[in-house]
Amino acid sequence: MGRPAAQTARQSRRRTTMALKIVASQCTVCGACEFECPNAAIKMKRDVYVIDPGKCTECDGDDPKCAAVCPVPNTCVPA
Ligand code: SF4
Ligand code: SF4
Repeated sequence: MGRPAAQTARQSRRRTTMALKIVASQCTVCGACEFECPNAAIKMKRDVYVIDPGKCTECDGDDPKCAAVCPVPNTCVPA
């Protein structure tokens, strides 16, 4: 038997998996990404920057602005 089609469709519509994350061990906490994010998804928590997956839309198909502005390669990456 295959998967229930309705369930598969529901899961594919969920946007919570569409998000980037910040690799904390590489982040220099420069803060540049915080001001570039159009969804205010990036905030400092304790002493590291984190991306709220509930707010990040991966810039809706545009190049992710956080990754573009981040001076450290491969630090804003798909979650
Ligand atoms: S990908 Fe876009 S929406 Fe997501 S955290 Fe980065 S700048 Fe914000
Ligand atoms: S731009 Fe990059 S290095 Fe700077 S705070 Fe954001 S994730 Fe960290």
